[in-house]
Amino acid sequence: MKIFTLLLLFWGISAAAYSQNKPSDPDMIQKLVTDILVNGTAYDNLRQLCKQVGPRLTASPGMYAAEKWGAEKMQAMKADKVWLQECAVPHWVRGQKEVFRLVRGYNMGARKEFSILSLGNSFGTGAKGFTGEVIAIDDFADLEKKKEQVKGKIVFYNYRFRQDFVEPFRAYGDAGPYRTSGPARAAQYGAAAVVVRSVGSAPDNHPHTGATRYNDSFPKIPAVAIGNEDADRLSKFLRNGGHETFYLRNTCVMLPDTIGHNIIGEIKGSEFPDEIITIGGHLDSWDPAEGAHDDGAGVVQSMEVIRVFKALGYQPKRTIRVVLFANEENGLRGGAKYAGEAKAKGEKHIMALETDAGGFTPRGFSGTMNAAQLEKFKAWKTLLEPYGIHKMEAGGGGADIGPLNRLFNTPVIGLSPDAQRYFDVHHAATDVFESVNKRELHLGAGVIAALVYLVDQYGL
Ligand SMILES: [Zn+2]
Repeated sequence: MKIFTLLLLFWGISAAAYSQNKPSDPDMIQKLVTDILVNGTAYDNLRQLCKQVGPRLTASPGMYAAEKWGAEKMQAMKADKVWLQECAVPHWVRGQKEVFRLVRGYNMGARKEFSILSLGNSFGTGAKGFTGEVIAIDDFADLEKKKEQVKGKIVFYNYRFRQDFVEPFRAYGDAGPYRTSGPARAAQYGAAAVVVRSVGSAPDNHPHTGATRYNDSFPKIPAVAIGNEDADRLSKFLRNGGHETFYLRNTCVMLPDTIGHNIIGEIKGSEFPDEIITIGGHLDSWDPAEGAHDDGAGVVQSMEVIRVFKALGYQPKRTIRVVLFANEENGLRGGAKYAGEAKAKGEKHIMALETDAGGFTPRGFSGTMNAAQLEKFKAWKTLLEPYGIHKMEAGGGGADIGPLNRLFNTPVIGLSPDAQRYFDVHHAATDVFESVNKRELHLGAGVIAALVYLVDQYGL
């Protein structure tokens, strides 16, 4: 009896001492954000990833260099465990610099070369190239009207990124299908090749690449993106003249699948080690760029959570996993592999957060989850508002964590930064380290660490 009383007394004192020492949530969040703003390494890590590793197209030497870099970084950050998760990935090779040139028409006095880039996964014309007429198509309704006229021609989708939409992701969703499914739809009517106006917002001439998806029922025809200024020029050529003939050459090829890896760093939970919180971005990028915003920013912000937890001596209750996903851009194989293996092992994933919308000033989070979880999530907004988070709302998540939601109903959350400049550089050669601002990047990492802390403390 006496021992029991003593034990009870001791337990009471230590619990009281613990709750006195434990910082309040606002204090802890402030500590996390402040440490990242003052001591954060995300920006320097991004510089290394962009300048030392460089472009990281899936299956390219850059991808393997990035895998090694990511694993070493998380080891240096003292993650409890770092491993490579093997994953089959597509092996697409761009080949020689693409050529698109006017060879016959009414504008022969003008500059004849046009700025293009093959779309990811595109088939090539072969080394000899293809010469043919170009037909301008305004939108998919126009394609249906002109379907008898496209046979054997180069279809030019002249659909613009909508400048009147305030939300740039809405404009991307609107124009994106011309890149992703436009080539397959034109192939259905016998088109020989497709040139797509770049899905990008900047008034410049950098072509924006990105994956296209063929339909196996139709021929896989060469597909390229054209810079927005050259798209304007091309549309004028076609209006003024008629029957303009162009030469197109791209030598890309799709090789058999090869092996890539998700790079995973983990801090084991102290109370609920079986409950896993995933944070991630994708390690691959398009090849003409450094992939600074897309998605080097997400990679370094996710890794920063390990650094700051270790730096502040914060021991999470639940297991925190940082995943640098493979092959988001032209296959989504990394995300599918991660969720598939989680299912096979019977893991319990309580939340996944993705950052893949650019390293700009954070504005909010949006997530896909059930009503009770959404209520809990939204209630945290007041804690994050001092750091510029004004929206905690339903919807979205991310491409790489989507499979976790579909397989386990895991709540999935995406960081929503200010996206006004994202599609200026997205998938273009201008997506370089210099286009990222250190404070914006670090503030983004700070709010991610804060939200991960809240989910770790209270579950979701
Ligand atoms: Zn991305």
